[in-house]
Amino acid sequence: MMPTYARTDFAFERGEGAWLYTEDGRRFLDFAGGIAVNVLGHAHPHLVKALTDQAQKLWHVSNLYTISGGERLARRLCELTFADRVFFTNSGAEALECAIKTARKYHSANGQPERFRIITFEGAFHGRTLATIAAGGQKKYLEGFGPAMPGFDQVPFGDLDAVKAAIGPETGAILIEPVQGEGGMRAAPPGFLRALRELCDAHGLLLVLDEVQCGVGRTGKLFAYEWAGIVPDIMAVAKGIGGGFPMGACLASEAAAKGMTIGTHGSTYGGNPLAMAVGNAVLDIVAEPAFLEQVRATARDLRQRLAELKDRHPDVIEEIRGEGLLVGIRTRVANTDLVAAGREAGILTVAAGDNVVRLLPPLNIGDAEIREAYARLDAACTALAPAARKTA
Ligand SMILES: *Cc1c(COP(=O)(O)O)cnc(C)c1O
Repeated sequence: MMPTYARTDFAFERGEGAWLYTEDGRRFLDFAGGIAVNVLGHAHPHLVKALTDQAQKLWHVSNLYTISGGERLARRLCELTFADRVFFTNSGAEALECAIKTARKYHSANGQPERFRIITFEGAFHGRTLATIAAGGQKKYLEGFGPAMPGFDQVPFGDLDAVKAAIGPETGAILIEPVQGEGGMRAAPPGFLRALRELCDAHGLLLVLDEVQCGVGRTGKLFAYEWAGIVPDIMAVAKGIGGGFPMGACLASEAAAKGMTIGTHGSTYGGNPLAMAVGNAVLDIVAEPAFLEQVRATARDLRQRLAELKDRHPDVIEEIRGEGLLVGIRTRVANTDLVAAGREAGILTVAAGDNVVRLLPPLNIGDAEIREAYARLDAACTALAPAARKTA
């Protein structure tokens, strides 16, 4: 394999709920969730059944034919959101590619093809394709891959005046993560999304949301934009929507999808029967109001325990941030040291930008998992304390 990842040598053999088991019998509490993917934990019976039932019938036919599971999932996503149109993909980056193309094509279809530029935000992460690394604008991901794709104007996250100043005659859209994930679990400031919505309306721009990480129940609403009381024009979704099966979706209003007519876009695998069976099964559970209510309660409990952890380890933990079960621990030590100490203590987490450690547990964890997480993180912080005192 290309050595593009600094992998640990853990090889997991099976998972059950929030737990992962290695081939040699060790057990880990999984608060990494495959990077915000396994919203219902591992081997959830409803998802396993949906996938295996479908696997007995039909795996793949291509988008040359009607896929009834996809028709159904698209209809349900439209009923649950602002959207009227859906395009299914295999990943988050592809959902963003579709979102970017849809926004550009909209203006082109309206006779303004020059309005192809999109305003994006510092610290953003939108994927690893050539267009999405240009949209994300992070040097470390762009370096060495030739000229960045043109058409993206980056401004500081949360800076409304900078957004206003960046709007020009070629601007067609604003693209934002309601909560930056990779960038360090940073929520947009209160009122920011609403202000962007107003700016978009005033200037004829499309508001494009990247909810690949913060969507599908992660913040305690089905989609994070619901907290802001606004609707976008286009939205990219992935990660949680497949619960571990690779899939994504680009959602759009009827008006915003105006240019996406026959032949304008495609995907061989996107929306295949296996993915659609699992996507529908995930929605069966996650879209239930009682489930989302439980996510909000669980998030409150977890946040309370983490506040205690911060009080116990002020030399290791600087701040707890994020929304719902998209939690960030900003550390006073190197974030990767806490991730490593967590692993030693039997809990898996993920590093993010801004020296943050991400906690992305399954959305259906309970008191027992929260207690285990607290105990393991407490052990990890205790192990780091001497090092933290030395650097202080
Ligand atoms: C993970 C992620 C992506 C990219 O998704 P892939 O499935 O890795 O292509 C895009 N946007 C956000 C916010 C993400 O967290």
